[in-house]
Amino acid sequence: MPTSPLVLDQPESAALLPSPPNGRGPDEQVNKLTSIPFVLLHLLPLLAIFTGVSVRAVVLCVALYVGRMFCITAGFHRYFAHRSYRLNRFWQFLLAFGGTTAAQKGPLWWAAHHRNHHRYSDGPLDVHSPTQKGFWWSHVGWILCDKYATTDYDRIRDFAKYPELVFLNKKDWIGPWALGLASYLIAGWSGVLIGFFLSTVLLWHATFTVNSLAHVFGRRRYATTDTSRNSAMIAVVTMGEGWHNNHHYYQASARQGFFWWEFDPTFYVLKAASWLGIVKGLRTPPARLRAANRVSLGTFDVGMFKAYWGKASSAVARSHVSQVVHDSKISASEALASTRESASQSMVERKQALEGFVHSSLESAEELARLTRLGQRDLGLEG
Ligand SMILES: [Zn+2]
Ligand SMILES: [Zn+2]
Repeated sequence: MPTSPLVLDQPESAALLPSPPNGRGPDEQVNKLTSIPFVLLHLLPLLAIFTGVSVRAVVLCVALYVGRMFCITAGFHRYFAHRSYRLNRFWQFLLAFGGTTAAQKGPLWWAAHHRNHHRYSDGPLDVHSPTQKGFWWSHVGWILCDKYATTDYDRIRDFAKYPELVFLNKKDWIGPWALGLASYLIAGWSGVLIGFFLSTVLLWHATFTVNSLAHVFGRRRYATTDTSRNSAMIAVVTMGEGWHNNHHYYQASARQGFFWWEFDPTFYVLKAASWLGIVKGLRTPPARLRAANRVSLGTFDVGMFKAYWGKASSAVARSHVSQVVHDSKISASEALASTRESASQSMVERKQALEGFVHSSLESAEELARLTRLGQRDLGLEG
């Protein structure tokens, strides 16, 4: 379904709470100890100065990047998280196993968290919103936080009924270890360091940019209730996932590049697989839907407005809490309670609220004007 511009899918209580300075709760911290292996893995490809880099290892690196990126975008994302096409149980398992070799945990963990991202996009309950919780948190921090290490099976019940998928989800180390071993057999230690580890690290950060950069950088075509954006650069490195504003607008579509010029190789492969009868029920965006709800046609950009408004109001709430703490030397939680009880606001707070509101409104208006210009160019191309 297209995102309705009027539905703000946030529980009321969460939406009303002022967020802390970094937008994260006290239980949203990076576990520094368990993050050490993750950080060290980034350095492993450097050991290739001792082994040398063979042509075979470089070819393996490229092949493993492309092959596994496809399993993540077509499999974990478009199939398991969004059910944008159908597969039989054999292909479903194969795609799930292929995805686990990318070392991004299991298919059910990945897809369940991603469904939550769409449910709470850019609100306080969004696990990895850069506008709410900071850029680095949205990129990688949340993955290294104990709070999000488990799988929310309730969110992915439709696939959790398959025992083989639950097995892969629980034993998510089998895929990466098997591929690491295969890389050694194919191209020796150079194959492991460059073919396997380097492509794995590149895959991680390319995938993570969809959670971080694709909500910060690029153009907004559709007035969705989040801050998602379209970026050709991100689409190139992620095989079509950079059309993230299109995707938030119409999640059900297996095709994320809505127009011929929007590079989406994941979809091209899925289309070819549908000709072979492997993929069925491939969903694409109807023309009338692609033409509707455009920022360039004057639709109010509620997603950007919400983000600016949220920032302004939580900054004001925080400044009041810190003022109360400073005045009375009591704890932050007591101060927060006192804030809620307080019926009147000082002139300073009102001034700050107004300034924040005016500033964000101006930014929204500028964005709208810019997109109107760009959108008109778009429409010319469509004709
Ligand atoms: Zn998605
Ligand atoms: Zn998103």
